[in-house]
Amino acid sequence: MIDNNYANKCIVCNVTNCKNHNSSKNYCSLETIRVGTHEPDPTANPCTDCKSFELKEPESFLE
Ligand code: SF4
Repeated sequence: MIDNNYANKCIVCNVTNCKNHNSSKNYCSLETIRVGTHEPDPTANPCTDCKSFELKEPESFLE
């Protein structure tokens, strides 16, 4: 179970619709994340993705 009160100060993140996002601060609540790419030959920041992203449950958006 994810503890969304935990803020991993090594992983700054503002993706608030991810279920791993800290509930009140701009940090991830996971110990580690996986970063990857959707490009065959990444050349810029937008080419990279957080592969640990998980969509927050719809009812959680109302919290
Ligand atoms: S899993 Fe990735 S997208 Fe989700 S809160 Fe953590 S760093 Fe952000």
